[in-house]
Amino acid sequence: MKKNLEKYKVNFVSVVVPVFNEEGCLQELIDRSLKALETTGKRYELILVDDGSEDATASIMHEASEKNEDKVISCFLNRNFGQHNAILAGFSIVRGDLVLTIDADLQNPPEEIPSLVKKAEEGYDVIGTVRQNRQDSFLRKLPSKIVNKMTQLATGVNMTDYGCMLRAYRRHIVEAMLQCNERSTFIPVLGNSFARYTCEIPVGHNERSIGDSKYSLWKLINLQFNLLTCMTTFPLRLLSFIGGSLSLLGILLGIVIIILRICMGDQWAAEGVFTLFAILFIISGFQLVGMGLLGEYIGRIYYDVRARPRFFIEEILGRKEEKTEK
Ligand code: UDP
Ligand code: MG
Repeated sequence: MKKNLEKYKVNFVSVVVPVFNEEGCLQELIDRSLKALETTGKRYELILVDDGSEDATASIMHEASEKNEDKVISCFLNRNFGQHNAILAGFSIVRGDLVLTIDADLQNPPEEIPSLVKKAEEGYDVIGTVRQNRQDSFLRKLPSKIVNKMTQLATGVNMTDYGCMLRAYRRHIVEAMLQCNERSTFIPVLGNSFARYTCEIPVGHNERSIGDSKYSLWKLINLQFNLLTCMTTFPLRLLSFIGGSLSLLGILLGIVIIILRICMGDQWAAEGVFTLFAILFIISGFQLVGMGLLGEYIGRIYYDVRARPRFFIEEILGRKEEKTEK
């Protein structure tokens, strides 16, 4: 890797935490995060985004912000928008040049924050984490495994653990994510699609000690679909492939039937039932191809509607006046 490491020095760290009904662990999270951030020796802010909580979360946040002025920033959404949208909301108000995300449930220890900051200073755009001995139930782990594999295939970025939200992004990656208009986003994947230098570090993972996972099975299924469709329109293309192969199979079957019929006489062909099958294959194959083609167009519309920016300029050199604001 290149590098003029001076350029990657981190001065200001922002930590974004989505919070949804976490009254049980929020205070501990704030205390431990502040302590960890203090040890980095950088300027920092802890941005708590309340995702429409209905318990005492909001009042804990109020109090923390009052006590730690300019360090704990509370941001309130007017209803529940989901974890990833809450993080985006937090992103929209960050001031730091390195932005971290972490869950509020203390499954990822906030004590890992300094090691992520250190790693970022080595010049990485995105730093992911891999959960060591992940403490979740098998039923929670299995879908994650499938999703990780699919995402690796779809994005081409080799990250082992997309589900772990303890991550760090450089500010320009965050700005890039904010410019994406789509409604369904999955932050780690989106972040990676803009990153050039990524790396992963191992972190500890604990059982959720307080409260339950905020993801019901239904929410989880929803998330998986979001993840798949936010990256690729490959499933639509699959229709064309399957349809094409089916048609081909039908045609082959037809040829075989004709040959057999000529050789063995009309008794063999069960009065044309087999031929009917061959024709059916061909027709349904064509139908699928048609649907796949439609899908291609819909896929294109989908890409355009999302209006993702097509490139990002990281830096411009040799100009007289520098753009100062981040
Ligand atoms: N969360 C949120 N909005 C939601 C669901 C979850 O902001 O609709 C937050 C939640 O407070 C926690 C994080 O997202 O900080 C991860 O949630 P959880 O631990 O329940 O998910 P899991 O660990 O099971 O993936
Ligand atoms: Mg959790």
